[in-house]
Amino acid sequence: MPTRDRDRIGSAVQFDECAHCGRELESGTWQPVRTVEGDDGVLSFHAFCDDECRDAYDPAAD
Ligand SMILES: [Zn+2]
Repeated sequence: MPTRDRDRIGSAVQFDECAHCGRELESGTWQPVRTVEGDDGVLSFHAFCDDECRDAYDPAAD
């Protein structure tokens, strides 16, 4: 089981859908996440349905 990223965000943050493809995420399961720093320096979390979407996501494209 991959455990990377899991401990960093704990279980308090819930995500509804993949930030890349929009697929609905199952609650209670592990998803790959990324932290993105916005122009104002505020960190935001994005969750993805799998590693491919995580790698494909480009926060600069928003
Ligand atoms: Zn996805």
